[in-house]
Amino acid sequence: MNKDLIIVGSGLGGLSAALRMASKGYKVTVLEKYHKAGGRLNQFSEEGFTFDLGPSFMSMTYEFDQFFKDCGIKNPLKMKSLDPLYKVNFRGSNKFFNISKDLDKLSSEFEGIEKNFKEKAEKYLFKAGQFFHDTENIVVKQNYDNLIDYFMKISRVPFKHLPYLNKKLWNLLDETFDSMEVKVIFSLVAFFLGSTPFKTPSIYSLLNYTEFKHNGYWLVEGGMYTIVREIIKELNKYDVRIIYNTEIVKVNKDSGKVTSVVDSSGKEWIAENFIINADAASFRGQVLNREKFSDDKLDKMEWSLAPLTIYLGISGKIKNLYHHNYFLGNNFPEYAKNIFSSSSIPSKPYYYVNMSSYTDPLCAPADCENLFILCPVPDLRFKSDWSDKEIIAGDIISDLSERIGFDLNKNTVVKKILTPFDWGSMFGLYKGSGLGLSHKMMQVGGFRPKNRDELYSNLFYVGASTTPGTGLPMVLISSKLVTERILNEH
Ligand SMILES: Cc1cc2nc3c(=O)[nH]c(=O)nc-3n(C[C@H](O)[C@H](O)[C@H](O)COP(=O)(O)OP(=O)(O)OC[C@H]3O[C@@H](n4cnc5c(N)ncnc54)[C@H](O)[C@@H]3O)c2cc1C
Repeated sequence: MNKDLIIVGSGLGGLSAALRMASKGYKVTVLEKYHKAGGRLNQFSEEGFTFDLGPSFMSMTYEFDQFFKDCGIKNPLKMKSLDPLYKVNFRGSNKFFNISKDLDKLSSEFEGIEKNFKEKAEKYLFKAGQFFHDTENIVVKQNYDNLIDYFMKISRVPFKHLPYLNKKLWNLLDETFDSMEVKVIFSLVAFFLGSTPFKTPSIYSLLNYTEFKHNGYWLVEGGMYTIVREIIKELNKYDVRIIYNTEIVKVNKDSGKVTSVVDSSGKEWIAENFIINADAASFRGQVLNREKFSDDKLDKMEWSLAPLTIYLGISGKIKNLYHHNYFLGNNFPEYAKNIFSSSSIPSKPYYYVNMSSYTDPLCAPADCENLFILCPVPDLRFKSDWSDKEIIAGDIISDLSERIGFDLNKNTVVKKILTPFDWGSMFGLYKGSGLGLSHKMMQVGGFRPKNRDELYSNLFYVGASTTPGTGLPMVLISSKLVTERILNEH
């Protein structure tokens, strides 16, 4: 068969689509604007420290087994389940809550804080499990041809879940638990969607089910970038070319079909089919010049929070940090409601810290640690000037030093800061938004930018910006959905 396929972007979406199609006999070329494959799932090394740039864990690992199986190989990734899942510290307290999948252990963590915790959590997670299982196959793993098709498919979701579409996650947690600590900790899943529980529909409590009851959280041995390396190894067997430093800025078309894509140097790339792994909304606006996706229209849509990320190579061993740690304040509702649209960052922000040297000593030199700090911040629509990045990072590093009792400033060997501006320009993320369009009900399913182009029959989209949505397992599902479409139609 050997049909030519060009994929624009080498994020997990682009790479997984490439392997799926190469294993079906397609001749695939991947064009990537950055100098390295992986997109947000990337990595860099400095002075003997290795840092995963973005993703630091994942859930629904069976999607990786399925992906490799679909491509005719056994999953080569060695994955490790995390328990405890993470630790949480609230400002002003020395206590680090160990958040375990074991609800008995978790009950003792919340002793004296939340009465009848286990009973309440079981009831809450049971319902969240129903959301998960009643939507996974019917809604999440589906292609939609149009809105009617979408509504037909969601009409098969049991009617009893309907009230939860309008209710916010925070309201559901507020009805379930009494203590602020438990509510805030359970609401952290909204953060994985780049949002807050005050904006996130309560149906996403299904993410609490995935963390506590279903598959939990996992690491990949050797670091998250091993995923990219292993896929590239397989792509090499099919002679898939990945061409770096190549940004697609234009599309040529004829008779309802794309004939070629053009890079910023003017070079034309011809194929029979094209899959775009760049952001499906802004590509339609900025490259295809579609009015519906113009910057004005995109600016009015709801975007997920942007990342401010800090990478620290530290000399010395740190005792009070685990693999995943959340450092939170005591004014969560007020903080979360303002963080989206504020043009300045509070001097005491909420942030996440990943120390992968805790589980993988090879990613830091002997007697050293590598720290990745992620602070969700407003996107470039609200804060476009990041000349204060050193001050903001300095506040976070000092706050963290105090809370873990370790002077990070004094022991820093490597330091790198990426602002939303950097993330935006490295990977084409619209206005630096870390997870793209938010997952509110009017931006998911049939309302999310489609994986098939509206005008050109051989142009498709893959990745977190199209259906079903964000996160590594969802991106693998996205590549399954789009490649099924192509294989069925072409
Ligand atoms: C800070 C951070 C932490 C995260 N943590 C987690 C986590 O712990 N677990 C998890 O499951 N998910 C996490 N995510 C989300 C996860 O990274 C994404 O959902 C996933 O990596 C998206 O993959 P993708 O292929 O859709 O897009 P991308 O990774 O963005 O890939 C798109 C690729 O297209 C390229 N591109 C864009 N425009 C063009 C163009 N015009 N021409 C050529 N190439 C182009 C980009 O350079 C990029 O390489 C995190 C995201 C961020 C930002």
